[in-house]
Amino acid sequence: MTKRLTGIAASPGIAIAKAFRLNNAHYEPAPEKVADAPIEVERFRKAVEEAKQELEEIKDLTEQRMGAAKAEIFEAHLMLLEDPDYIDAIIEGIESEGLNAEFKLHEVASSFIEILSSMDNELLRERASDVRDVTGRIMSRLRGVSYAAIAAINEPCILIAEDLTPSDTAQLNLDYVLGFVTEIGSRTSHSAIMARSLEVPAIVGAGAAAVEIKMGTMIIMDAVEGTVLIAPSDEEMETYKARKAAYDQRRIELRKLLDQPSISADGRRVELAANIGSVEDLQKVLANGAEGIGLFRTEFLYMGRSSLPSEEEQFQVYKHVLERMNSKPVVIRTLDIGGDKELPYMKLPVESNPFLGLRAIRLCLSKQDLFRTQLRALLRASSYGQLKIMFPMIAIVDELLAAKQLLQEEKEKLVQEGIAVSETIEVGIMIEVPAAALAADFLAKEADFFSIGTNDLIQYTMAADRMNETVSYLYQPCHPAILRLIQMVIQAAAKEGKWVGMCGEMAGDETAIPILLGMGLHEFSMSASSILPARALIKQTSHREWAGYTEQVLSMSSQTQIKQFVEQKTRSDLK
Ligand code: PEP
Ligand code: MG
Repeated sequence: MTKRLTGIAASPGIAIAKAFRLNNAHYEPAPEKVADAPIEVERFRKAVEEAKQELEEIKDLTEQRMGAAKAEIFEAHLMLLEDPDYIDAIIEGIESEGLNAEFKLHEVASSFIEILSSMDNELLRERASDVRDVTGRIMSRLRGVSYAAIAAINEPCILIAEDLTPSDTAQLNLDYVLGFVTEIGSRTSHSAIMARSLEVPAIVGAGAAAVEIKMGTMIIMDAVEGTVLIAPSDEEMETYKARKAAYDQRRIELRKLLDQPSISADGRRVELAANIGSVEDLQKVLANGAEGIGLFRTEFLYMGRSSLPSEEEQFQVYKHVLERMNSKPVVIRTLDIGGDKELPYMKLPVESNPFLGLRAIRLCLSKQDLFRTQLRALLRASSYGQLKIMFPMIAIVDELLAAKQLLQEEKEKLVQEGIAVSETIEVGIMIEVPAAALAADFLAKEADFFSIGTNDLIQYTMAADRMNETVSYLYQPCHPAILRLIQMVIQAAAKEGKWVGMCGEMAGDETAIPILLGMGLHEFSMSASSILPARALIKQTSHREWAGYTEQVLSMSSQTQIKQFVEQKTRSDLK
């Protein structure tokens, strides 16, 4: 019988291909005496040289495909190949002990990795994975086996890995990597968000059995349902080929909605916007008919590098996004660092509960220089499009007032310097802390708009870490507790005549959309690939009908009941 795994369908699609198992070569060489140490040293140097060439090629490829910033990681790897502490220690070991290169490489690298992994400094801890990566590359050269380099994949495959880091995803060649399955992760972990922005099918959190899939095994991944079939039968292959064809056909049908407005069956207009993390995501945004950007996660500009981005660098990025969006609304969120998003070079104190600590707006208000730089860059860019500035993780009105005060001060300075600043910038906040939802009436007086960040709102309401798959059953967007908070937020904003959007993953959830439409949500911001399916759904859903169901939905006691209700009603809508 075909073995099946289930995981979280993190990015939709169906893929059928052979497995490419990443980082599976855990190799522990034994010490062996060599006959001629200088020849062994030469063999080692040659492997290092080959690894260097390979890295140069991958670096160039990544730069072409994903931009210079993403290629920087390989610069660190190349530097390591020149590092005398590392390379010379191995050579000296081979010479003085007359032992084989594989063993000395493994020995020296292991002690490096051990020391680095135990460091307090995050930047140094990250170096451990660089050493591991570079060591694996040299080792495979010594052994004459191919190193599982993602960038070098040149045959169609489905990638299987424990997890994918941003640097792994940066190297994916989507001509060949048809999808990926990971052992760990959740719907809102960053590898999942990245998969959606790249529009590559992904199943995450498939458990330890995922990494036991052998290299080259045929697999089917159904990232609509969240199932992986290992070594499927001929019959299953046929079934899934047909299912994939139907899925692809629906995508073609959806493209007809590309330039159409998002209007419900009874004529209510809403905005379907996209979430982005970098300028590279813009192409997908435009190709999927987004009516704006509902969330630009600017922290990615600060991550994966070794120093803070300057005001000018940020200004150029924000200006570029506003110009490309051609006067459509663009909500740019100020730095949301902390929690699972670290900035190693900032040396922030270690916290025992980072998700409850000095993150997002709290950090920005305590490090005003950092915040002012970003605010200036945003204000300078404001005259190039329709900018809306959004502060993350606001819990109380005072935080919003303090942030607005800094924004005002920077605006005045720029005006004095004779720099153009738009007069129509809306300033809003994310609602992702339960306190903000419960006291949204006060915040609505001070904010121009709200955007509900359900990824965090659910995590904090349910007290369930969004990164921990063992409590992922509590990620329940349609639980009455969450829906009631959302309703409070929308009603509080309506009283003040403010608009409300949603930029958490729930905004693209097809079960939640009819309920949210009925509650009066104005803007839905999601990964680009969800926009067209959401537009199709909204077109066949009546706002008035669902507004009429709101009280009934909110009186149900569980997500299961609510989902059943939505499914039953949407099915009858289709009739
Ligand atoms: C959220 O919390 O819902 C959100 C959109 O922000 P992030 O996922 O970046 O924390
Ligand atoms: Mg958040």
